[in-house]
Amino acid sequence: MLTNDQLAQWDRENFFHPSTHLAQHARGETATRVIRTAKGCHIEDRDGVKLLDAFAGLYCVNVGYGRQEIAEAIADQARELAYYHAYVGHGTEASITLSKMILDRAPKGMSKVYFGQSGSDANETNVKLIWYYNNILGRPEKKKIISRWRGYHGSGLVTGSLTGLELFHKKFDLPLSQVIHTDAPYYFRRPDANMTEAQFTAHLVAELEALIEREGADTIAAFIGEPVLGTGGIVPPPEGYWPAMQAVLRKHDILLVADEVVTGFGRLGTMFGSDHYGMTPDLITIAKGLTSAYAPLSGSIVGDRMWKVLEQGTDENGAIGHGWTYSAHPIGAAAGVANLKLLDDLNLVQNAGEVGAYLNAAMTAALGDHPNVGDVRGEGMLCAVEFVKDREKREVFDAADKIGPQVSGALLAEGVIGRAMPQGDILGFAPPFCLTRAEADEVVEKTARAVAKVL
Ligand code: PLP
Repeated sequence: MLTNDQLAQWDRENFFHPSTHLAQHARGETATRVIRTAKGCHIEDRDGVKLLDAFAGLYCVNVGYGRQEIAEAIADQARELAYYHAYVGHGTEASITLSKMILDRAPKGMSKVYFGQSGSDANETNVKLIWYYNNILGRPEKKKIISRWRGYHGSGLVTGSLTGLELFHKKFDLPLSQVIHTDAPYYFRRPDANMTEAQFTAHLVAELEALIEREGADTIAAFIGEPVLGTGGIVPPPEGYWPAMQAVLRKHDILLVADEVVTGFGRLGTMFGSDHYGMTPDLITIAKGLTSAYAPLSGSIVGDRMWKVLEQGTDENGAIGHGWTYSAHPIGAAAGVANLKLLDDLNLVQNAGEVGAYLNAAMTAALGDHPNVGDVRGEGMLCAVEFVKDREKREVFDAADKIGPQVSGALLAEGVIGRAMPQGDILGFAPPFCLTRAEADEVVEKTARAVAKVL
């Protein structure tokens, strides 16, 4: 058997890791952590060290690790038919069944699902379909996409542009000019401490209207947003945000894309975040929770309004020239069918809502009054703790203090994985939906201990 040292050496010599400080890794300052196996909410490395994964990988292993039902569905599919493409009407029992299962669960008004591999390529598909749609309608100028600062929508060229985080733009010449950003619905960072949530929503709506006025509604095709901001800091929207924003978009004939890569399939305790917040999107992006990451698969769910135009357009323009080799990959589709069945059979969406509320309440009780905790917030099985130097003034720590990474490091030493979010001193939690109350208590107790060590 290969030794850990051998693997660590090969890793440093050969493996280009995503979102990684390469020089530190080459110097061995970030450890090579070789994960060997996992079950439920726990992962285990090659030395037998067990960790409670309170971020579900990258908020994706929603049904928990080690589910034999999904492993068997994947193995059966691989033995019977590992691959066939989905072009020109081809499908498999799994991909066709999955498309029906998705539409049966989707919010009202959705029509079809286009399959991809990742959240990034699904959002790339969305932008292309939006542009195509406006070209068919004879409005070639209506192309800009509005996204939010702190939004996360992927790391391709267009999707990295939609993402509103500096790390994903810096030195990449992003964002591209077709993408414009508006303010994040981040109540904790409201411009005036005396604003109520409703006043902050009105402020954001006014900002959106001003942006549309400046750019011209006839140049703006769509608005994209996550129901709850995820990677940008796990930020639920202020009261009334989505209905009010949506009304402005409708008025200007601007499409709405709900990026539900994190919130889709139950993370907020409802099947979709759109249902949770009364959104009626034209497109919904799905990925992570579709297969609980047992195989890569994503999708763009297309609403009736766009579908009719796209379908009718093919009589004049021919087939839509957009496809991936791995669209509706049979193994991903088999994983998706088994995963959605498990969500239902084990009542996991309900558990996400209930245990998520318990986790958020317990975290607030444990840390809400700490002098260096500015905010504890969350929704469903999403929770975040934001650290500040001065609670009254909401003053941030010096970036060089690296408080977020320090707390997540101390928490890891306690045996729990929480994520230092990429922008700001925010510790995020997004556990698998099978988290128990006892495990939620463990996350909270160990987080409080980690915070006490650092602050
Ligand atoms: N959209 C959202 C909301 C995400 O959180 C992510 C990834 O975290 C993506 C899109 C991109 O998905 P992927 O990493 O699968 O490309």
